[in-house]
Amino acid sequence: MDINERNIEKLIDIALKNKDIVVYYQPKYDAVTSRLCGAEALARWKLEDGSVLSPGCFIPLLEKNGLIIKLDWYMYGETCAFIRKLMDEGIEVVTISANFSRLHTFEGDAFIPRLCETADRLGIPHKYLEVEITESTFENLGTNIREFIADIRNAGFNVSIDDFGSGLSSLSFVKDVPANVLKIDKSLISGNCENEKERIVLESIFNFAHKLNFTTVAEGVETKEQLGFLRTCGCKVIQGYIFAKPMPQEEFENVCKKPHAKVYDEDILLTQPSATADELLMQAVFRAYPLVIFSNLSRNSFYMMAYSNFTTRSCPSAGVYTELIMHGASTMHPDDKELFISTFDIQSQKQRYENGEDTISVVTRQKGDDGIYRPVETTNYYVKNPSADDLLAITLSRPLGDA
Ligand code: C2E
Ligand code: MG
Ligand code: MG
Repeated sequence: MDINERNIEKLIDIALKNKDIVVYYQPKYDAVTSRLCGAEALARWKLEDGSVLSPGCFIPLLEKNGLIIKLDWYMYGETCAFIRKLMDEGIEVVTISANFSRLHTFEGDAFIPRLCETADRLGIPHKYLEVEITESTFENLGTNIREFIADIRNAGFNVSIDDFGSGLSSLSFVKDVPANVLKIDKSLISGNCENEKERIVLESIFNFAHKLNFTTVAEGVETKEQLGFLRTCGCKVIQGYIFAKPMPQEEFENVCKKPHAKVYDEDILLTQPSATADELLMQAVFRAYPLVIFSNLSRNSFYMMAYSNFTTRSCPSAGVYTELIMHGASTMHPDDKELFISTFDIQSQKQRYENGEDTISVVTRQKGDDGIYRPVETTNYYVKNPSADDLLAITLSRPLGDA
């Protein structure tokens, strides 16, 4: 069948009426547990000869003449009907997302009532539904889109930004969009994620998305190596051929009955060593030294990193080094104060460094938040920053057990 701009209007009407357009569901899985946690509804056009058309063959035409609106509401209605079926059969329901073209933003105030009406008529809790809006929608729609999305969220639905990274929308714009899910486009996940620059970009995107409280979904994940890397980025949800391709409703219903995917428990040290190494090393360092301080002795500043179970809880923090030392001294046993201050005096440290000492260490008794004195070993390792001439010290500090 030849679908073109001239005949699409007639053909789509017939196809929708005959239900030749069907919903395929692509499962989404929890990145860590490999358990089913959602699905996306994707349109497929079944032809008379039994072949199936992908959306790429008809969605662009429908976008052009506005008929996409009709298709999207049809897909959403079918999705709701399917969720109702699952509920009736006592099968555990996961959230299912449906794609909505940017053209829906022109439906204005009519959009939310229609979204609610279909779900409410079938008694479907709104939390089981997710509206996917593609990133490109945000490029030229200004502030209205924020309100549009806020209204959908306020009505209890999930909203995802689809294909993030495929277009030109900026991180700074996304921060103001009240969506709760960020779907990272498959174009950002190429090869086996072995390209250093691509890894940096992905790590940063996940970092920023998590700080803004987005649930992150990686689209188009195909290989174990990609999965391994995405796990190190803290990616929450995986959608891709590695777990499952889009499938007809009956098949997806069976997946819902057995919601565990095959587990890929690859050795992460072999597949993604550099991404994991720093984080693992820090875990070990913090276990041995619950207090780590970076100090710039040339500039009298410090940055203190957090830990758990150390004697104070005011971390992380940054500030003036001499004030830190005076504060530290104030928590020392009276007999150890002098030793502590003279050891960590900036001038005397510089002198000792110039005399060839690259490490200094003292043990002093320090009062914890509970008022008890405990011996604490404090060691300064002097290091040079390759990009500045400043003298830096890394302090590793650890309690030595009760006095
Ligand atoms: P999308 O919303 O980003 O959907 C994800 C697409 O990535 C789907 O393509 C899916 O089959 C594909 N995909 C998932 N995992 C993998 C993978 O591991 N490798 C590769 N190579 N591809 C993967 P599909 O089904 O061809 O849909 C293409 C696009 O058409 C969708 O992209 C969506 O933008 C649009 N679309 C599909 N159904 C609808 C609909 O009902 N309404 C609207 N407005 N757009 C739709
Ligand atoms: Mg989508
Ligand atoms: Mg997408």
